[in-house]
Amino acid sequence: MDKSLRKAVIAGNWKMNKTPDEAKAIINDMKPLVADADCDVVLCVPYIDIFAAQEAAAGSNIKIGAENCHWAESGAFTGEVSAPMLKAIGVEYVIIGHSERRQYFGETDETVNKRVRAALDSGLTVILCVGELLDERKKGVTMEVVRSQTKIALQGVSAEELDKIIIAYEPVWAIGTGETATAEQANEVNHAIREVLGEIYCPKCASRVTIQYGGSMNAKNAAELLAQVDVDGGLIGGASLKADDFSVIVKAASI
Ligand code: PEP
Repeated sequence: MDKSLRKAVIAGNWKMNKTPDEAKAIINDMKPLVADADCDVVLCVPYIDIFAAQEAAAGSNIKIGAENCHWAESGAFTGEVSAPMLKAIGVEYVIIGHSERRQYFGETDETVNKRVRAALDSGLTVILCVGELLDERKKGVTMEVVRSQTKIALQGVSAEELDKIIIAYEPVWAIGTGETATAEQANEVNHAIREVLGEIYCPKCASRVTIQYGGSMNAKNAAELLAQVDVDGGLIGGASLKADDFSVIVKAASI
């Protein structure tokens, strides 16, 4: 599988961290460090930080994304934000199906699918997260879980729309734990995801989809993970909150 068919994407997921002023400060620190990146650089930030992040990133190669969106265009959904709302303020990317949303906020494969559909309808690029629990890995059902999550999330998504889909394989046991999947484990599952995409769409379509790894990727382990043939970038939590660490990961993806 030819890696050069795909653009590497390094995306930060800030989760519930940073005030608008803090967002501006870290993006100002990051800008010169990632200016020469030969990969796409995205920061998915809390809704409250989007304007400040966009202002700080203006004129740079850093793109700003959100961490979720609702499936309805508008309505009685207190606390939610819709895809058209994000689009209206110039947001380009949105994370959907993050395991923390699935774990703590009741997201299911079905609601993930509805959110994916809504994001695509608004012209957003989706970073779709899939990944198994520790218990599922121990039981040897990782591939089944990830295959099923991928298939359901992409129901009703056409082959033409795949250029607006990035998939992030994030083993839940590796998120925020400091425990990273080995490069082989990451590549194996990413490869399986590409095979599923080949079955749903076509092998050529699948070869063009960026599939990231996420789960305690950091300045030390990024190069080895990103060197894998089916690992096309990373979704980075903790290390995206530090300009120096994040820029090392961006450089590792730019080789
Ligand atoms: C994430 O939040 O998607 C993530 C991968 O977090 P961390 O890098 O902190 O494990």
